[in-house]
Amino acid sequence: MADCLFCKIAKGDLSADKVHDDGELFAIRDINPAAPTHVLIIPHKHIETILDFTEDDRQLVGRVYEVATSIARSEGFARDGFRIVANCNRDGGQTVFHVHFHLLAGRRLSWPPG
Ligand code: AMP
Ligand code: ZN
Repeated sequence: MADCLFCKIAKGDLSADKVHDDGELFAIRDINPAAPTHVLIIPHKHIETILDFTEDDRQLVGRVYEVATSIARSEGFARDGFRIVANCNRDGGQTVFHVHFHLLAGRRLSWPPG
C-alpha cells in the first residue's frame, strides 16, 4: 500500500526505532509513547484491521504473542507485567489502518481503559 505509514516503515522508506524484525513481523518504538515502554508489533503484510485476518493469518497472530513476550523478557519487564492492545476502527481508537499490536509496560496501567 503506497500511502500506508507502516508499509513505508516496513520497506525502510521511513525511519523508525526498530527493536525486532523477523521478516514476517517487526516491532518499533511508538513515536508518542503512552507508557515508559510502548512498542508496536506490526506484520509486514498490509492488513487494515483485525477484522481482516483470515485463516491464513492464524500463525501470524499467534506469533505476535511470541514476539511480545520475547521483548518483555529481553527488556526485563515480563515479571512486573505489561499489556497488549489492538485498537479496531472508530470506537477502538484506531488511527493507523495497518494492523498493529501495542505492547505497553513500565508503569501500573489503569483498568478499565479510558
Ligand atoms: P492506533 O491509534 O492504535 O492506530 O495506533 C497508532 C500508533 O502509531 C499511535 O500510538 C501513534 O503514536 C503511532 N505512530 C504514528 N506514527 C508513528 C511513527 N512514524 N513511528 C512510530 N509510531 C507511530
Ligand atoms: Zn500498510
